[in-house]
Amino acid sequence: MSATITFLGGADTVTGSKYLIEHNQKRLLVDCGLFQGYKQLRLRNWSPLPANPAHIDAVVLTHAHLDHSGYLPLLVKNGFRGRVHATAATCDLASILLPDSGHIQEEDAFFANRHAFSKHAPALPLYTKQEAIHCLKQLHAEHQGQWFEPIRGWKCRFQPAGHILGAASLLLDVGVGAFCFLAIGSP
Ligand SMILES: [Zn+2]
Repeated sequence: MSATITFLGGADTVTGSKYLIEHNQKRLLVDCGLFQGYKQLRLRNWSPLPANPAHIDAVVLTHAHLDHSGYLPLLVKNGFRGRVHATAATCDLASILLPDSGHIQEEDAFFANRHAFSKHAPALPLYTKQEAIHCLKQLHAEHQGQWFEPIRGWKCRFQPAGHILGAASLLLDVGVGAFCFLAIGSP
């Protein structure tokens, strides 16, 4: 049985990087990024994912920038219970960036409500700082250059990349084919 890859983001725009790999009824999400930039892009963060987060078995992050990791609190809020594999430095950076992202979203919602310029009453954050802190428990650090199995029989390996601290390109071998994801998000 072949493996399929679905682009849930990072297409038409460089943000919102998310790639769903499916094989043998198992699902792996490579990157879990927020759409950023113009409002019409940011609105895409509110659309439900085509895949139920509760049915995704694991996540692997190439790096900590929010357009690659910032959707994680929402994925967990909506039912994802698996591990999030990343390099140790990416785990450390995400532990700072994700709560900060939740804080900014709360501030934006507060500001919009105070000045009543949102169409939504009340304006809500995508997720809160507390929800972002909650999702950090699922982070799992992996060594660069060593194979690990986010799903039984699926082999992954991080290779150092220069983009930011902890960034890594990802080699993924699901047994019937291999994928390579660069740290800048293009498979
Ligand atoms: Zn980046």
